[in-house]
Amino acid sequence: MKIAVVGAGIAGLTCAYMLCSKHKVYIFEKSNRPGGGLFSIRYKEGNVDSFVDLGFSVYNRAHYPNLVNLLDQLKIRSQEVPKRIVINHPNAKLYWCLGDDSHSFSTTTSFLKPINYKVFSLWRNWKKQWKSFLEKKDKKTSLFEYLKEEGVSSEIQKKFVLPLIQSFWCGLRSTLEDMPAYFFFSFLSKIGLLEDSDDAKWRVIRGGGFRIVSQMVSALINPIHFQVEVVQVSRSPDSVEIITNTGEREFFDAVIFSLPADDALRILEKPTPSEYQVLGSFGYEEFDIVVHNDERFIQTPSKGSASWCIQVSDVPEKMPPVVTWNLNYLQQLPIKSNLFLTFVPQGNNVPKENTMVVLKRKAPKPTWKMLSVQKRFTEINGINRTYFCGDYWGEGTIEDSIGSALQVVPLIEKQQARAQTI
Ligand SMILES: Cc1cc2nc3c(=O)[nH]c(=O)nc-3n(C[C@H](O)[C@H](O)[C@H](O)COP(=O)(O)OP(=O)(O)OC[C@H]3O[C@@H](n4cnc5c(N)ncnc54)[C@H](O)[C@@H]3O)c2cc1C
Repeated sequence: MKIAVVGAGIAGLTCAYMLCSKHKVYIFEKSNRPGGGLFSIRYKEGNVDSFVDLGFSVYNRAHYPNLVNLLDQLKIRSQEVPKRIVINHPNAKLYWCLGDDSHSFSTTTSFLKPINYKVFSLWRNWKKQWKSFLEKKDKKTSLFEYLKEEGVSSEIQKKFVLPLIQSFWCGLRSTLEDMPAYFFFSFLSKIGLLEDSDDAKWRVIRGGGFRIVSQMVSALINPIHFQVEVVQVSRSPDSVEIITNTGEREFFDAVIFSLPADDALRILEKPTPSEYQVLGSFGYEEFDIVVHNDERFIQTPSKGSASWCIQVSDVPEKMPPVVTWNLNYLQQLPIKSNLFLTFVPQGNNVPKENTMVVLKRKAPKPTWKMLSVQKRFTEINGINRTYFCGDYWGEGTIEDSIGSALQVVPLIEKQQARAQTI
C-alpha cells in the first residue's frame, strides 16, 4: 500500500518504521526536523559535547514497556538518574520532596510542622491505594471528591495537591474538580512517582533522547518531506488525497494522522460524526519552555539538588506554580554550567540576559471529555482508510504515542488483507 504519515513525531516515526519494509510510506513534517516532542540540543563545554533533552527526557521500565522494547530493538542504552521533585512555598517556608527522598524530612525544623506529617501521610496512602483505585476503573470521581472522601483538609488540597496538578499540567485552569482522580493516579503511576521499585526508577537515554529519532529515521526507506505542512486530507472510497501548503496534491491508499488531535480535525475534510466527536474532545494547553541559567528558579531550603523544582506562589488560584527542570541533575550531564528549563504557561518571567532558548509547546490536557472518548480508539481507526495515533490516547507521554502507533500498525495490515480478498 502507499501510505501517508502526517507528522514525524515519535508516533509517526514508529508507524513508518514498522510499516516501511512492506509498504511505501511517505512522511510529511511541517517543521525542519523529525522528532516533534523529542528534541535534544548539542551543548559544548570545553572539550565536552553533551546532548541535552529539551522535550522527552525521563521514562521508567515499569510503565514504558513499548519504549523499552523499542530501545532494545534499536540497541540504545539508557542510564538511571535521580528522581527528586521539590515543591517549595518560599513565603510560607514549606517544602516537600517527592520521589527517591519522599520518606525523609529534609531538615530538622520540618519535624516541628504538623502540615508536613499530613502531607507525607497522604503521599504514603496514595502509594498504597493507587493500584486498587485504578483497578476499579472509576472514571467519574473527581480528585476533589476523592480527597473529600479521604478526609484530606482544604489546607493540604490548596498547598500540596493543587500546585502538584497545576505544575504537571501547566496552568491555572487545572482545578481539583476538573481533574479526574483516575487520570491523576494513572499519570503519577506512569511516571513512576508512586513506586520505589527498581523498575520505577527514572532513566534517560545515553547521548540524548534524539538518538531514538536518528536511528528510526536512518532505517526508513523514503526520505521525510520536511517543511511540508499538510493542509487538507480528503477521503473517497478508493483513495485518500493529501494537499500540502506547497499546493501539491497526492493520492494514497491510507493516511495516518500522527499529530495532535485538534490539528488532525482541522485538516480533515468532512470528518464523520464519530471523528468530529472523538477528536474534538481532546483539549490542549499551550505554553513556552525557556532554557536559561538563572539559579533563583531552583533555589529551595532543601539539601541537595532537585530534578524538578516547583515554586509555588502565595495565590495559586491567581498565579500558577513555576516548574523548572534542573537539566544537569535530571539528565546527569557531564557539564558544570547551569542549564535549567522552565515551563511558562503565561508571561515569561525569566530575565532576558539569562535566557538561551524559548520554544513554543503544547500538550494534551486531562479533561472529563478526554477520558470518556479515549476508549473509542477503534471507532475511528481503520475507517475510511484513516488512522490516528499520538500521546492524546493516553496520559500524554511518549509511551502513549508509541503504544497507539503500535495499535495502528495491525489495523493497516487488516486493510491490506481486506483489499487483497476483494
Ligand atoms: C517539555 C516537554 C517535556 C516532556 N518530557 C517527557 C518525558 O520526560 N517523558 C515522556 O514520556 N514524555 C514527555 N513529554 C511528552 C512527549 O514529548 C510527547 O508525549 C511525545 O513526544 C508526543 O509525540 P507524538 O508523536 O504523539 O506527537 P508530536 O511529537 O507532537 O509530533 C507531531 C508532529 O506533527 C507535526 N505536524 C503537526 N501538524 C502538521 C501538519 N499539518 N503537517 C505536517 N506535520 C505536522 C509536528 O511538527 C510534529 O513534529 C514531554 C513534552 C514536553 C513538551
